[in-house]
Amino acid sequence: MRPSEALASRGLASLRSQGLLRRLREARADGAHAVVGRRRLLNLSSNDYLGLSSGIPRWAQAASSSRLLSGNDPGYAPLERALASHRSQRASIVFPTGYMANIGAICSLAGRGDTILSDGLNHASVIDACRLSGARTVVYAHNDVGAVERALARARGTALVVTEGVFSMDGDVADVRAIAAAARRHGAIGVLDDAHGDFVLGPRGGGTGSGARASMDVHTGSLSKALGSLGGYAAAGGRTVELLANRARTLVYTSALPPAVVAHARARLAEPKAARRRRLARNVKMLHDCLDSMGLGREGARTHIAPVIAGDERRAVRLGERLAERGVLAHAVRYPTVARGAARVRLSVTAWPGEAELGGALDEVRRACRALRVS
Ligand code: PMP
Repeated sequence: MRPSEALASRGLASLRSQGLLRRLREARADGAHAVVGRRRLLNLSSNDYLGLSSGIPRWAQAASSSRLLSGNDPGYAPLERALASHRSQRASIVFPTGYMANIGAICSLAGRGDTILSDGLNHASVIDACRLSGARTVVYAHNDVGAVERALARARGTALVVTEGVFSMDGDVADVRAIAAAARRHGAIGVLDDAHGDFVLGPRGGGTGSGARASMDVHTGSLSKALGSLGGYAAAGGRTVELLANRARTLVYTSALPPAVVAHARARLAEPKAARRRRLARNVKMLHDCLDSMGLGREGARTHIAPVIAGDERRAVRLGERLAERGVLAHAVRYPTVARGAARVRLSVTAWPGEAELGGALDEVRRACRALRVS
């Protein structure tokens, strides 16, 4: 049994024995009522205090409570089935954002007395989750699988290894297969935050490391990036997901996404995306050819995110400003998002621009780097 499933089995059994197990029940909010199964019940668990949540169908909010109360619209179950199958997992659970998915998943699986190993470049949501969990956190050198192995050998309690798939500020890719294998060897739970690789990398956009035999136990992602919708999710084994539904405070104690958003995410997920991924691949190649031509290319995987490191904070800001003056939006990223002295302009390409338009923008990047002596 996967380590996350074994942990979840124990956690669920404990909740059950205390009569504390919660279950997500479908409920469709409908004005004063909620439709639960075939029954239409007067809704006395809504937070729609002024009755504003429905009425103008295009703007309807109509959730107005936690998913454990009357917010669990019937649109969730098919979306969660589709997301689970997209990540080749048994089950999944949708959160209001990817940030909340990370907090909810990590804090449900590790607590006081446990150990979380977190990549040095992990996103703020993972950092915050580590802090909130109360577990001892070991921050390992970026992408250093040897350091993961060493830290796992010393870990106490339940051990979690958390890494991003595509790193959001550097655009490089974790060795997911090696990290998953190391976690397995030590009975640890591997957590992959694939907010930036999901729907983009791998066969059929299955995400970073998809198709590999050794998979991470828990996959978190955002529906707001490549999917172009809103929300976040965690995909994992069935028991693990059930445990999250019980323990994740970012699901239990917050309002559900409105049904229109759930339906939107589901429609986006069902859309064919191969042609968009092909256009993106062409633009990714143009981006890296440009950086290589300036000597700014980096070793390793070449993704849709690439930093132009200016080093000095003011120079990074100047670079961003100059690009904006020339019609290109690329933000300067500074401390604390990245380390001091590692300020950069973060470039990310999408499937949107055609060859000529992107080519023109990349020429501006070239000129701006030359003018500001970024090399
Ligand atoms: N993980 C990573 C790596 C991210 O970059 C982000 C968003 N920037 C998130 C999680 C959070 O996703 P969301 O925007 O859906 O909250």
